[in-house]
Amino acid sequence: MSMKYQFKNNEDTNKRLLICPECGEQLVGTDIEIFQACPYCDQKLERNCELEDFIIEPLVQRWINKHIMFDKEDNVTQSRAGLL
Ligand SMILES: [Zn+2]
Repeated sequence: MSMKYQFKNNEDTNKRLLICPECGEQLVGTDIEIFQACPYCDQKLERNCELEDFIIEPLVQRWINKHIMFDKEDNVTQSRAGLL
């Protein structure tokens, strides 16, 4: 039987959080990057596609951000100016 994971979006960081199926704590990718277990309750998390996606998501996002910066320098500059 494969585990079904629940995720929620952190509105502050706009990142996905994994809800521990055992204790309900919200975990970030780096919490389970090395040991696939909940750092709060030590529940083993079965590694499946969903979990893989969740763990590599920040890396993918970093790559995309980098790519966009090179590709759309004008847009980035504009949105930065908008923030200041
Ligand atoms: Zn837990």
